[in-house]
Amino acid sequence: MIVMKFGGTSTQDAAAIANVVKIVKSRLSMRPMVVVSAIAQATNVLERAGKLASENKSDSALNILQQLSDRHVGIINNMIEDSQRRDVLINIIEISFNELRDLVKGVSILRELTPRTLDSFYCYGELLSSRIVAAALQEANIDSWWIDTKDFMITDENFTRAMPMIEYVEDRLKAIVKPLFENNIVPVTQGFIGVTTAGRRTTMGRESSDYSASVVGCALNADDIQIWTDVDGVLTADPTVVPEPKKIKLLSFEEAFDLSYFGAKVLHPNTMLPAIEKNIPIHIYNSQKPTLSGTLVAKQTDAKDTIPKSVAYKRNVLILNIVPKKRYGQYIFWEHVNNVLTKHDVASHMTATSEYNYSVVLDAKDNISAIVHDLNTIGTVSVIEGKGIVCLVGSNLRQSPGLLDKIFHSIIDVGVEMITFGPSKSNISFIVEDNDVLDVVRRIHNNFFSVVKDDDIFEILEHHHTPE
Ligand code: ADP
Ligand code: ASP
Ligand code: MG
Repeated sequence: MIVMKFGGTSTQDAAAIANVVKIVKSRLSMRPMVVVSAIAQATNVLERAGKLASENKSDSALNILQQLSDRHVGIINNMIEDSQRRDVLINIIEISFNELRDLVKGVSILRELTPRTLDSFYCYGELLSSRIVAAALQEANIDSWWIDTKDFMITDENFTRAMPMIEYVEDRLKAIVKPLFENNIVPVTQGFIGVTTAGRRTTMGRESSDYSASVVGCALNADDIQIWTDVDGVLTADPTVVPEPKKIKLLSFEEAFDLSYFGAKVLHPNTMLPAIEKNIPIHIYNSQKPTLSGTLVAKQTDAKDTIPKSVAYKRNVLILNIVPKKRYGQYIFWEHVNNVLTKHDVASHMTATSEYNYSVVLDAKDNISAIVHDLNTIGTVSVIEGKGIVCLVGSNLRQSPGLLDKIFHSIIDVGVEMITFGPSKSNISFIVEDNDVLDVVRRIHNNFFSVVKDDDIFEILEHHHTPE
């Protein structure tokens, strides 16, 4: 079987959903299970509604929810012709938005939006889009069955960033889909959302529907995990930043992880984790151009050549530089620092140590003042704000002595604050001013990828995307 995950832009309107139906139909022989994200922007609207309610702006919250409801109804009226099927869906929309209105009321009384309540808002996006996709498949005479993630996607209780508990997921999901596959029925479910053992809805982090698809694929031992999105595959850089990115035909799991971890939005970094475990290939395809070959992410036999493949970036990070107050044994000091980070549930994106100094790179949106407060007990902390990470990813980068020269030559006039090179053989990352990030990405891209030709790894795109 295969898993087919469709992102928000692939379900944004009736035409996009009709296209999804066509793509699924063309792959029925591969026994697909479909995982869908909320329609484009729905998750942002739900989040905004929750926030507005907590600021006592219920009218605005209700207003944007009404628009979201209208969008869903519009899609249904546009594409579901069977009146009974349409009535069922419209009824579900009405019930769901009534529940959302109740949530707005509750939050505006309490004036507080907890992660748990935010998850109660979020879940409607995927619940509704998946209902519509399941019905749209039926309209096209494809037997489909809507499955609520509540029945299988068991997660921990870390609301808004829950982790699935695969051992529970596997048994439940297998039991649900077995009779469906036996009868050639296409299961359709939600990405992004899960449920605690006590039955509370959770979500697994923004953009995590790709991860859901991979968890489903892993639980069912899929032959392929397909991520259908709005670009031709993984590209040599973010197409909104770089004028003519090339498509990468083949990436290793590690390369794909590094790229997505350092900002390439096309895949959620966790997507690779279950796939690596079971060695299941992941394909990234363009739902607007379903005949193209996309990108394959797979286990790679150790490549001997150094092949830079893509440049990614992460904005709005900062460096904490910590100098110990006392000359502890080094390892005790490091342990202190890491304990503080663990306590605040943050991970350093890059770390550098030299003798007694310790630098970590965190997101500016992490709870920096509390972290600094705790670190102050053991060290003197300076906070260096307004930074960004640029990361070059590829095969065997560590083995290439000329690589550093080539990177830094192209940005000779840019201040680089910190570098990590070595721990991972597939990436080199460095810190620059946040304001310089996009320029540095363009220059590195130009330096490494302007001359690549169509070969086993790269493909020149016919119609490149225009940066914003
Ligand atoms: P979906 O809604 O299908 O999950 P996303 O918006 O999450 O789609 O991811 C696709 C987007 O990722 C692309 O439209 C593109 O702008 C962005 N992106 C950033 N970096 C890259 C990259 N290196 N390769 C391809 N796409 C990228
Ligand atoms: N709909 C969710 C989000 O916008 C999950 C996803 O799209 O992957 O974050
Ligand atoms: Mg996405």
